[in-house]
Amino acid sequence: MKINCIGTGTMGSITRGNQSILIEDTLIDIGSGIVKKLESLQIYSKNVKRILITHVHADHLVDLPNFLIGRNIRNENKECLKIICGKGVRETIINLFELCFGDGQKNKYKDFEKKFNVEFIELKNNQVYKDEDLEITAYELEHGGCKPILGFTIEKNKKIIGYATDTTLCTNVKTICQKSDIAFLDATNTVPTKSHMGLNELLELKAEFRNCRICAIHRSDYVHNHIEGIEFPEDGEIIEI
Ligand SMILES: [Zn+2]
Ligand SMILES: [Zn+2]
Repeated sequence: MKINCIGTGTMGSITRGNQSILIEDTLIDIGSGIVKKLESLQIYSKNVKRILITHVHADHLVDLPNFLIGRNIRNENKECLKIICGKGVRETIINLFELCFGDGQKNKYKDFEKKFNVEFIELKNNQVYKDEDLEITAYELEHGGCKPILGFTIEKNKKIIGYATDTTLCTNVKTICQKSDIAFLDATNTVPTKSHMGLNELLELKAEFRNCRICAIHRSDYVHNHIEGIEFPEDGEIIEI
């Protein structure tokens, strides 16, 4: 199975784009700049069946209008797209569309699902979404005052991929590492802050969960990228598991 590291940076990074990974036809996070990154890799909306959104911060969400409107313009919307996110995120997304493209019309997006052929699946802690291809479990994380903030495990072909940005080192990050064959984790800084993990915590996790490959993403440019035991993918890198 191929995991495409679309973006590995964080806000403020000059050398890398906002964090996002694509697991075959499942995209996780769609922050600013991600649509053009995908297109530069010849990945288009027709290649994406599901989008997982961890939280509504701009570096994780705001390219969704670009993605969905482009999808409609190019008639790539024949198949229903699943948007998997936390409780209440649907409403925030509709507000975002009204802010950007409402043009003063009230309720322009009231039939959002029909207009874009999407279905929202809002998950709480430990809730599972399952279809014919894969199983996704949501985990509530801790990211300062931002709520909801979700991490995920994605189980496909008997492999489990974990994803936890942005978060402090809470119990559910350990749960994700314990279950996963490979985990993509928040390494915004070298040391932790009140809303992000630090690279030194990824080393602690690697020591505790030896069977889990740990990839540092959501990295600031100043974070080191050569530490034994941790992987530091670059934008566009493909990881095989
Ligand atoms: Zn955030
Ligand atoms: Zn972020």
